[in-house]
Amino acid sequence: MNRAQMSTRPVTELRGPIKALFSDVDGTMTSGDRIESKTYAALEELGAAGIPVIMVTGRPAGFGHAFMKMTPILACIAENGGVTFTRDGRKLVKQYGVPAASLPEWRRRMNDVAIEVMSKCPGARLSSDSKYREVDLAIDYNEEVTLPVSDAELAVRLIKKVGLEAVRSSVHVNFGPPMFDKLSACLGLIRSVLKGDPKELDAYVYVGDALNDAPMFKGFPQSVGVANVKQWWDELAYKPAFITEQPEGAGLRELCAHLLSVSR
Ligand SMILES: [Mg+2]
Repeated sequence: MNRAQMSTRPVTELRGPIKALFSDVDGTMTSGDRIESKTYAALEELGAAGIPVIMVTGRPAGFGHAFMKMTPILACIAENGGVTFTRDGRKLVKQYGVPAASLPEWRRRMNDVAIEVMSKCPGARLSSDSKYREVDLAIDYNEEVTLPVSDAELAVRLIKKVGLEAVRSSVHVNFGPPMFDKLSACLGLIRSVLKGDPKELDAYVYVGDALNDAPMFKGFPQSVGVANVKQWWDELAYKPAFITEQPEGAGLRELCAHLLSVSR
């Protein structure tokens, strides 16, 4: 039986100990577009207790770089797995999900299909954070513009038709080379940075809030949705194993407190 048929349980039933928390950013770490100081403090406390936090986001490499420089996280997977930041002492280490030499050709193909999408979905445009992307790009349909979901779905179809990968988040359609995803980037980090065994995924938690988290809800046996994930419930191909009572950052804080209590 897959998780689509299984019932999602309250987060209080999640069992520890937990070795690391992989967390989505938008709609999971943020509350109304901001990371509240309380949420920041909860992540700091978790890290200090020996449970490092890894950000996993569709946001650009430029954001990932800033997150690594300015927040208490261990690592950051940006651009849906396209770019991964880790540390080597004081130095940031950046790895691409595709060979670096192939980036200009991928970018040319992405620009071509972006023009096609913008001509067929009037009002759609490249997201304002696309400038800071190194591997993927994003069409904005619900951040600084408001378009019907059907336009976002059309964009996904047009992009997939030309052999690129496309994933819809709550605000963007992210698209790029079909050679990486968030889950494989997480498994890579478990091996390389956490020195863990990806076969023992029970020791790691993933938390998210939207449709683009479905593959992570499927991949992580201890997956958690913050309460606002319910707005996508019927469309979610894979449901999280656990759900918080509170939405957004408050839900993430609820999870952090629980992880501390089961990992001491
Ligand atoms: Mg999200």
